[in-house]
Amino acid sequence: MEPEITEGSGRLAVIGGTFDPVHYGHLMIAEDVRLRLGLQRVLFMPAGEPPHKTSRIITPARDRYLMAVLATASNPHFQVSRREIDRPGISFTIDTVRELNEELGDDAPVYFVTGADSILEMDTWREPDAVLTEAQVVAVPRPGFDLALLEQTLGAERAARVTVVQSPAVDISSTLIRARITAGASARYLCPRPVLDYIHKTGLYRPNGRGGEPCAR
Ligand code: ATP
Ligand code: MG
Repeated sequence: MEPEITEGSGRLAVIGGTFDPVHYGHLMIAEDVRLRLGLQRVLFMPAGEPPHKTSRIITPARDRYLMAVLATASNPHFQVSRREIDRPGISFTIDTVRELNEELGDDAPVYFVTGADSILEMDTWREPDAVLTEAQVVAVPRPGFDLALLEQTLGAERAARVTVVQSPAVDISSTLIRARITAGASARYLCPRPVLDYIHKTGLYRPNGRGGEPCAR
């Protein structure tokens, strides 16, 4: 019998994001961080109502969640969580960190994986210093990212608490994929085939497709 998919046990990394859609950049850094830090699992955590992305309409959470499930299905170390999607209100990282630490018990603290670009916005997080204390924050630079910016922006003390993992740089973003699909161009090899199939089947990101609906749950 197949094991039930649960959030399980063992040292855990969380990668949070909009995942609109999930792509090979996310998957590659998740696997690289997992292997380099010797972690058992990576939990992909699509944000329900992302606090930082109010300038464009986000794809409904169920689509972003399903695409993450499709993208991660072949990796036994990857799971997708509905935790932030199902939690009412804005998704704050600190709430997720505290919930997971409580559940992890001896395996706490949780590792929180983020692109180095996202970490520069730390001051917009709720309780940023608590995130640094209660999680082990791991930053992965995107291509062209100047690491000196971490210390310049966060200050030496905060920057010293961040673990930097230099994964192979992959210059892929969800913005690029959405733009290509909206323009009718190919997004092949930027994200897993089942994700592209889902996008094409549902009409996501097409000018006259379903993209642009308000963020339903
Ligand atoms: P968008 O273009 O819509 O902002 P994105 O590609 O940045 O999408 P997010 O869902 O915003 O994807 O990213 C989730 C997390 O993964 C963020 O911390 C982000 O910095 C990181 N990330 C995304 N793509 C990469 C990449 N190619 N290399 C390293 N980190 C990445
Ligand atoms: Mg982003």
